[in-house]
Amino acid sequence: MIIDTHAHVSDVKFDEDRETVIQRAFNSGVDRLIEISCEMHYWDKALELLKRDNIFAAFGIHPVDATHATAIDYSKLETLVQNKKCVAVGEFGLDYHYGASPQNIATQKESLVKQLELATKYKKPVIIHCRDAYDDMIVFLKEYKNIPKGVIHCFSGSLYQSEVFVEMGFMLGIDGPITYKKSDILKQVVLETDISKLLTETDCPYLAPQKYRGKRNEPSYVVEVAKEIAAIKNMSVEEVLQITTQNAVKLFGI
Ligand SMILES: [Zn+2]
Repeated sequence: MIIDTHAHVSDVKFDEDRETVIQRAFNSGVDRLIEISCEMHYWDKALELLKRDNIFAAFGIHPVDATHATAIDYSKLETLVQNKKCVAVGEFGLDYHYGASPQNIATQKESLVKQLELATKYKKPVIIHCRDAYDDMIVFLKEYKNIPKGVIHCFSGSLYQSEVFVEMGFMLGIDGPITYKKSDILKQVVLETDISKLLTETDCPYLAPQKYRGKRNEPSYVVEVAKEIAAIKNMSVEEVLQITTQNAVKLFGI
């Protein structure tokens, strides 16, 4: 039994065979999956997925979309967050990967505050996206008084940064890159972090694990992440599956 706590099955890359992909996941031992719906134009598709058992969702506004999100989008988001099967707010956060202007950074931070407040208001955990912005995120969160519980999705920072986030109460989301040969720092992070703080994710259709690298990622591949965590921590795969599933149940209440 394993949970993919971070999938984007609504993505256009699954339009041809979405049902087959979902079925393959459930047949291969994926017990539950959380669909992360963070692009406004995919929200309706995610709602459609929620009609199925064992699929839950998080709704949010991705930092890259923050500049064109309107007041109407935020009020629609507030309605979505109240959906019974919405188990978190996200992913949202900071993304400086494409070179963010000071004005853009300010907008991303406003969006970050709005969604943190939304999570607090409806008592939901948060799924934080952070790309090329870890130091800034740490400074920001240290100043922010009321941090909800949550996960730093697809963590790829330093060992020091991982320790700071865990100390703040966050879990770390571990994805396909843990299986890549050159991920020495990430492997070190997984080794040093208590297993009670780790979640298994795919971030599909992106970041396929080594075995499928270059192909479209999908929820059934999440087991590759668990296998690698087990190898690094010298634990059995079963034990890793059991504990990371418990972690997801604890954080998201699913
Ligand atoms: Zn994602």
